[in-house]
Amino acid sequence: MGKILKGATAQDTHSAILDLIRSSGTVTRVDLAERSGLTGASISRVVKQLLADGLIIETGLGDPTGGKRATLLQFNPRARHAVGISIDTPSTSYVVTDMSGRVIEQVSSRGIGRDAPATAVKRITAELEDLIVKANIEPATLIGVGVALAGRQGGGGMRLLRTDASKYAWEPFAVRDTLSAAIDHPIVVENDSTCAAIGEFWAGRIPSANDFATVYMAAGFGLGLVTNGDVYRGSSSNVGEIGHMILDVNGPHCWCGGQGCLESLAAPAAVVKRAEQDTSLVNELALRGRRTAVRSDFAKIARLAAAGDPRCVRLIEESATYLAKALLSITNLLDLDQIILAGPGFSEAGDIYVRIAGTEINRLSFVRAMHPTRVEQSKLGPSAAALGAASLVLHSQLTPHQKSTRALTS
Ligand SMILES: [Zn+2]
Repeated sequence: MGKILKGATAQDTHSAILDLIRSSGTVTRVDLAERSGLTGASISRVVKQLLADGLIIETGLGDPTGGKRATLLQFNPRARHAVGISIDTPSTSYVVTDMSGRVIEQVSSRGIGRDAPATAVKRITAELEDLIVKANIEPATLIGVGVALAGRQGGGGMRLLRTDASKYAWEPFAVRDTLSAAIDHPIVVENDSTCAAIGEFWAGRIPSANDFATVYMAAGFGLGLVTNGDVYRGSSSNVGEIGHMILDVNGPHCWCGGQGCLESLAAPAAVVKRAEQDTSLVNELALRGRRTAVRSDFAKIARLAAAGDPRCVRLIEESATYLAKALLSITNLLDLDQIILAGPGFSEAGDIYVRIAGTEINRLSFVRAMHPTRVEQSKLGPSAAALGAASLVLHSQLTPHQKSTRALTS
């Protein structure tokens, strides 16, 4: 903290102190001075401003230290709100959270489907306005809107270039700029797997010293990385494309141009395709087999697998085994001690993926003799990306002393 604040601007100092209060639960001014390395006078000035802004509150008295009992300070999560939107082909999810990341309101609507970008953004803007009314929050308390995008991010204005090579692709389009023009709040845009990772971190489950990865499964796979309490974004926010890690050089062709990618072997569409070879299963589950039905078809298979149906267990275990192999390589590459499985793809049969990935990684990881690698399922549910996008707003607005979030909002 002392190092972070060396030469920091007033805004950075405020955000760093606020972050310290938030992560401490309750804390005294003396504790803050000790932990930050700032003088008592500086702390008093910052605390006075944070109290005036309503961002923190005074809450009782702490243990007596040398006679006088010092006033305890606490973060005030309801002072501000954030919105997170997850935009994907089959669905759009919205959440409103307070500053602790607690969900105040949550809705979902149809995805971008075949809509032209301009049409989709117009609808999203209208749905966002409805959401703010429904959540019954003061618009002035909304500090920003985070957008989690599936697919590739373009340079400059953060555009969703193509979600895939099919007819559902979006053409180059400045999502952030267009939303910014329509919405009178700061907009941050990030890929969905990075959003899911920052959501886990902000939800407070991860100690800030821990490095961890989140694997996000929707139509494909993405990896979000948090190191030293901050997101790792790569050079263009296209970090963590593990879906195109090649697991079989002679494997099936993938839309990316490669062959035998994790996505072509283990993503929901690959599982549904394999299930279609079993006619009785297709009839029993009323699988529709259409591209637009992949998410619901996969959910039916995964649900039955979770219930123990051997045909579906086999299908999900095969997908989980490919994912486990990919995560084993990632663990060896990054020396991870924690991997969290998040997103709608893990909603129904996450336990099977956790079991197989956990077993495989701890059986074979290069560092297994040094430390285990915990694999667990996210507790954020299928809206992990939307929640993460809201967390990204909190992260960028409340912790601008972290360099990567500053880059995001610039
Ligand atoms: Zn590929």
